[in-house]
Amino acid sequence: MEKNLSVFEDNESQVRSYCRAFPSVFSKAKGSLLYDEFGNSYIDFLCGAGAVNYGHNNPIIKDAIMAYLDNDGIAMGLDFHTQAKREFIQTFNEQILMPRNLRYRMQFTSPTGTSVVESAIKLARKFTGRENIIAFTNGYHGMTGVSLSVTGNRYNRQAISYSSVSRLPFFGYMGEGFDEIAHYRKLLLDNSSGVDLPAAFILETVQGEGGINVASEKWLQGLMELAKEFGALVIVDDVQAGCGRTGKFFSFERAGIEPDLVCLSKSIGGFGIPMALLLFKDALDVWGAGEDNGTFRGNNMAFVAAAAMVNGYWHGFEFEQEIAQRAAIVSDFCHRMHREHSGLIKIARGLGLMQGMEFFDENLTAQISKLCFKNGLVIERAGDRDQVLKIMPALNVDLDVLRKGLDIVEYSIAESIG
Ligand code: PMP
Repeated sequence: MEKNLSVFEDNESQVRSYCRAFPSVFSKAKGSLLYDEFGNSYIDFLCGAGAVNYGHNNPIIKDAIMAYLDNDGIAMGLDFHTQAKREFIQTFNEQILMPRNLRYRMQFTSPTGTSVVESAIKLARKFTGRENIIAFTNGYHGMTGVSLSVTGNRYNRQAISYSSVSRLPFFGYMGEGFDEIAHYRKLLLDNSSGVDLPAAFILETVQGEGGINVASEKWLQGLMELAKEFGALVIVDDVQAGCGRTGKFFSFERAGIEPDLVCLSKSIGGFGIPMALLLFKDALDVWGAGEDNGTFRGNNMAFVAAAAMVNGYWHGFEFEQEIAQRAAIVSDFCHRMHREHSGLIKIARGLGLMQGMEFFDENLTAQISKLCFKNGLVIERAGDRDQVLKIMPALNVDLDVLRKGLDIVEYSIAESIG
């Protein structure tokens, strides 16, 4: 049967992206499987770029939303107080924050990753009275004004120039043994360096779009101290690495740090219901009422989905073990591929179920991703040259589906080299 893509090609903007890599018309999805309109199935190692951590149409989340709507629960409530919101706030406090000894005030921003980053930076600037933001090479924070200005990728930022952002090298960028924190410190102390005292540092503890670059615990701890020394705030963008992706609910837990602000979106809304949540220390709540408005800050279906997700998976710490078991399988696989194809693969790295293999030649990465799709697997690339094959299965993926997906990667690599 012919795929009919002409409706998209004739009418949709050239800006479309993922559909170019996966040129099918999808109709259904369940768990870790996507189906096209002809019933062909694909294993999903992309998971909505991190927005479907618990699988497509996850039954726990789906049942909660269906029951809510069946009961005429309010969907659009601006930012009214609603029962659904109250339940989410209580659940999130009791099951996520309190067991981790964290205390944060919650702000529901417009429901996308880029919006929550905008709000975080706006608040940091207002609180400190400073303009400059320090961001890191290869960071990705979104595609709107301020979030784009702190995003590292030059392709995304082309033809746009922004002031008040200093971009510093990310951990590992300058090579083993280079003390980045001391380097930043020197720049901050030097009036002629061009790096003004910042309102905040913004970072991903594992850079997702930037190529699965994992910050060390030491770097994270050093950055917190440095920020304190210079009266700056630390914003952790956990839009992609949060909600369990790296093995713990928050990606920064492993370093024992408490960022001043935390951005969540993507999987906080369950399986793709748009939602974003900004967490910040109580003392930072200097907003005036209505100062950071947005019509869709109160998507009650998202609150229902988010509460069901927390209740279903984050009651206690058992789910972390499930993630760790799957993460070990993926990590072992990536390291074996690296050993067996050391002429093609430069390095394997990652944390939790955010793993990647960096190829020397980005054309090969592109070819492998294409072959994977032909062989029934959706898998994306990342990195400044798209040279990293990025493995992001659902956190609760069935083990046999996970192994089958990795098999497809293995024989697609073999196929790519003939
Ligand atoms: N921050 C990070 C770390 C992300 O990975 C993304 C999306 N890839 C964003 C922000 C932006 O999110 P959105 O696309 O929902 O605006």
